[in-house]
Amino acid sequence: MKKIAVLGSTGSIGTQTLDVVRSHKDEFEVCAICAGKNALLALEQAKEFTPDLMCMEDEAAALSIKGLLPRDVELYAGKDAAAVAARYAAADTVVNAVSGFAGTLPLIAALEAGKRVALANKESIVCAHELVEQAKRKGGGEIIPVDSEQSAIFQCLCAGEKREVRRLILTASGGPFRQFTKEQLDKVTPQMAYHHPTWSMGRKITIDSASLFNKGLEIMEAAYLFGMDAEKISVLVHPQSVVHSMVEYCDSAVIAQLSAPDMRLAIHYALTYPKRHESSFGALDLTKLGMLTFEEPDTERFRAIPLAYRALEAGGIMPAVYNGANEAAVDMFIRGKIRFDEIADVVGYAMSRADRGNILSLEDIIKTDRQARKLAFEKGNA
Ligand code: NDP
Repeated sequence: MKKIAVLGSTGSIGTQTLDVVRSHKDEFEVCAICAGKNALLALEQAKEFTPDLMCMEDEAAALSIKGLLPRDVELYAGKDAAAVAARYAAADTVVNAVSGFAGTLPLIAALEAGKRVALANKESIVCAHELVEQAKRKGGGEIIPVDSEQSAIFQCLCAGEKREVRRLILTASGGPFRQFTKEQLDKVTPQMAYHHPTWSMGRKITIDSASLFNKGLEIMEAAYLFGMDAEKISVLVHPQSVVHSMVEYCDSAVIAQLSAPDMRLAIHYALTYPKRHESSFGALDLTKLGMLTFEEPDTERFRAIPLAYRALEAGGIMPAVYNGANEAAVDMFIRGKIRFDEIADVVGYAMSRADRGNILSLEDIIKTDRQARKLAFEKGNA
């Protein structure tokens, strides 16, 4: 039995992780769950999975369910809830499915505690990759990617050696506005951006997928996870979301990973790696697939991609600035403060104004994130 801690248990990836556990009760046991504010769903999960530990970031939410939990479930509430669950001694594997920058400290905590981390949260590795490497060395933990593109590349890399890789090809659905003109992008509302054509995901990543900032974050995530330079990472728009990513080798062979768009396959693989266990999540009927198409992304309409390469090449604090400014910009877009196509203006502005420097400590990351958000709000309110 593998013991699993699920961080972000009430979200899209968190609930799908619990689905995987539910379908493979003979393989996995949930020993800890952590949520933000959704007390009612967390309570339901605690009743079903009876973890030893339940953590909640929101103290008032935790208080509202305190007396209702099963007797053996210990409750912890506080800002550091996810890091507490990430370090939980009994857990072999920590699924980091917290959304946004808040996933950073828990990732470092889990790696320092020597855990295997099934990593869905991409923002953490983008913001803190130097510290993530230090934490791995210090604690002996490891990362198995859950993000579908990175999981695909992780699997495709088994076909050769790193020095034989010509390039990693990240696929992107292109989002709901792939064919929108600049004028149409101008009029996109949050309600329009919440509807992704192929994936069902949490709110922030759905907006990031529509703006292609999700792909920008993944370019950096791939660079850091697999130790690849920017020029070895490319993006192809593939609207059907069946080919989850590819690796091209020096002999021109291209190895791809395919499945129906179902995150439970990548989650299950991360939990069973290096083995593969029986499952039908994401099963494909190739005869019913129809056409698979690929095209270059339009980097003039979707500036998230060139901005990501700029951040990756600049290094230091810049990836964290890209992320922090984007999180603030998404928030402003949702609240109607900026237009959809202004998200890239806000991120570009923050990147051009932020101090230069390196990330040497947790304080540096927090300071950088704060500065990026401040610059983003400055531009958004101008
Ligand atoms: P959701 O918004 O659906 O869920 C986020 C989860 O994190 C919720 O359980 C939320 O709790 C919890 N949470 C938020 N802040 C905190 C905090 N400070 N401390 C503890 N828990 C917190 O997001 P997704 O599941 O869509 O995405 C999660 C991560 O996975 C993101 O980084 C995303 O980029 C990545 N990812 C997601 C994919 C998807 O298909 N959804 C695909 C690939 C990657 P609550 O709701 O209780 O407040």
